[in-house]
Amino acid sequence: MGKRQKMAAFLLILIVCLCAGCGEQQVKKSELILDTAVTLTAEGADAQAAIDESMARLKTIDSMVNPNLPDSDVNKLAQLAGTGKWVSLQPEVYKMLATAQDYAVKTNGAFDVTTKPLVDLWGIGTDHAKVPSPVELAAAQKLVGWQKLELNEEKQAARLQDKGMGVDLGGIAKGFAVDEVRKIYAKYGIENGLINLGGSSLYALGVNKEQTAWRIGIRHPRKEDAQEKMAVLPLKDAALSTSGDYERFFEAGDVRYHHIFDPRTGRPAQSGAISVTIVADSSVPDGGMLSDLLTTAVFVLGPEQGIHFLQTMHHGIKGAIIDGRLQLWTTGDMAKEMEEVSRDFQFWQGSGELQ
Ligand code: AMP
Ligand code: MG
Repeated sequence: MGKRQKMAAFLLILIVCLCAGCGEQQVKKSELILDTAVTLTAEGADAQAAIDESMARLKTIDSMVNPNLPDSDVNKLAQLAGTGKWVSLQPEVYKMLATAQDYAVKTNGAFDVTTKPLVDLWGIGTDHAKVPSPVELAAAQKLVGWQKLELNEEKQAARLQDKGMGVDLGGIAKGFAVDEVRKIYAKYGIENGLINLGGSSLYALGVNKEQTAWRIGIRHPRKEDAQEKMAVLPLKDAALSTSGDYERFFEAGDVRYHHIFDPRTGRPAQSGAISVTIVADSSVPDGGMLSDLLTTAVFVLGPEQGIHFLQTMHHGIKGAIIDGRLQLWTTGDMAKEMEEVSRDFQFWQGSGELQ
């Protein structure tokens, strides 16, 4: 190799190294938003700007869906429930409600954002959680029903038919927010990053610092330590959500009363599922929002119906359901993709026999 060639080779190596260096400009920031610990990671020249704008966007979304803020759209809907008046909504809230209604129909009412009176009555996760009396339960259940939430697309408005009704976007808002951050990352040309909303809704973009797929730990549903995993899922350019009966619950007698309600019984869903994970790849429109609402819906449907339902969905959607016997029911290539599966779990074969 001549002197010039050596010099050219040296320069080429230098450029490659510098580029690799650029790739390592990783920015990571955490904040408490949407009632959850948000951690945003992004790589690239505009990573800081993308993260700052994303955090601001998340706060705006929170202000629309937070039931504790008097001016939030969801609060206005509850205040005007039963008056016949339409409430003009921000496009974001309208989109979440329209999607929720679509899936209320598709899941035969398993997913229902009008469960709010039940959420309030049971108070799961608050210091006044209790098993309600049958009279209280019957009264709250009368105020639940997606058919009594009307939407007007042209006006981008909604109304609730009965006084005392309300909507709760806790099963969909975080996933919606993931999609919004994803759009901001795209605007800033971010190719690698992790959008993580409390570990329960996230999006893995490109690769991690090691230049491999992001490795997402799925929580072990029966270990108190939140760091204990039931498996690890390598994830690249896909959204993932997990819902479980371990997130917010109290126990009385032998029963675990948790935060995912079966709107048809008015009680925490006893469907056989104890944890549900859904992955939506980048070909799925609104993949974050869909994976979030599907975890809740599939949890209520239970393993058998849940698996059937997932099989009718977009091919870019797959899921894993854990039942009370710690059997794993999966769709797509989920079983193959999972790594480091804890020995506590076995794959359900659907034939009645375990692997
Ligand atoms: P997730 O943790 O994503 O399953 O969402 C659970 C949250 O969604 C609860 O804390 C409630 O705010 C709300 N929720 C509970 N049950 C339902 C249901 N059947 N349909 C829609 N939202 C629900
Ligand atoms: Mg959900």
